[in-house]
Amino acid sequence: MAVCKWCGTQGIFVRTDENGLCKKCEQHAPLRIIPAAQYIKHFYDNAHEVKTVSSKVSNFNGAIAQAELL
Ligand SMILES: [Zn+2]
Repeated sequence: MAVCKWCGTQGIFVRTDENGLCKKCEQHAPLRIIPAAQYIKHFYDNAHEVKTVSSKVSNFNGAIAQAELL
């Protein structure tokens, strides 16, 4: 029985692609994943460029917040 990794839909008639996404999520998930991944990279890069610990923590928290949206 297939289970969609994004929405959790499951059943004997649910089919998932090679990424574990159902047909519905296969079309919509990239619209959310790609911007979130770009934000995560932005925060990650910033965390390595800023000097203060509080700024580093703030950037890592931003990256975590974006990852939690996924
Ligand atoms: Zn789904």
